[in-house]
Amino acid sequence: MGSIEAGEHRLESIAQNIGRIREQITHYTNGRDVDLILAAKHQPLPRLVEAYRAGGTLMGHNLVDQLAEATAGLHAQKIRPFTSVIGHVQSNKLSAAMRWADRIDTVDSFKTAQRIDRRQEARVASGEASGPYPMLLQLNSSGAATQFGCHPEDFVELARTVSALPFVRIAGVMTIGARGTEADIRSSFVLTRRLAEEIRNLPGLDDAGVLSMGMSNDMRIAIEEGSTVVRVGTAIFGTRPAQ
Ligand SMILES: *Cc1c(COP(=O)(O)O)cnc(C)c1O
Repeated sequence: MGSIEAGEHRLESIAQNIGRIREQITHYTNGRDVDLILAAKHQPLPRLVEAYRAGGTLMGHNLVDQLAEATAGLHAQKIRPFTSVIGHVQSNKLSAAMRWADRIDTVDSFKTAQRIDRRQEARVASGEASGPYPMLLQLNSSGAATQFGCHPEDFVELARTVSALPFVRIAGVMTIGARGTEADIRSSFVLTRRLAEEIRNLPGLDDAGVLSMGMSNDMRIAIEEGSTVVRVGTAIFGTRPAQ
């Protein structure tokens, strides 16, 4: 792979980078299916179009304003990625998030799930949507106070209570994972997989099989620990523009 140092990211085209990431994924999985969500934050529309054309059909946004703008821009070009929200959503933005995203991947409290449930009930009643709204439950697997996500001790109870809401559907679990040594990172992913397996034993959650973990710098470890979808930004788009 040439002279590139760990943590550096090559200035190649988005399409080449997506191809390289997919090759790495295949290498790490030995054939198991692992999806790729493009972490789209701060990327201008033409770069998202380029990524989509190179097969990046799953897009994740952190900020609801960017989600709305980018998705409207893509739809205007008849491009319809599967879009999810991968950043924390403030309650006053939930409605816009649901309008523009196919899934919210960062639900970490019953209160948020309940707000989504009520909003979806209204959307279904008005014909704007049909069926329950899909979400991932976010686990704080690192213990870092700065991270969003449900505390591991409360996680199964969160899943149990949310699964009883009629207008939401838990599709799986998302985590950011620890920073630090490989052992720290790995143990946060192991914990996440264990809890994701545990909640699948709850009534109605046997098909909540999405396990979203792994980013540019830790996707190998995440895949080794059972990730079904990685979220990659920097390794595809390069270092982000100033924020
Ligand atoms: C930005 C972001 C990513 C991607 O991180 P990179 O290191 O740029 O690959 C993944 N997940 C979330 C929640 C993010 O905010």
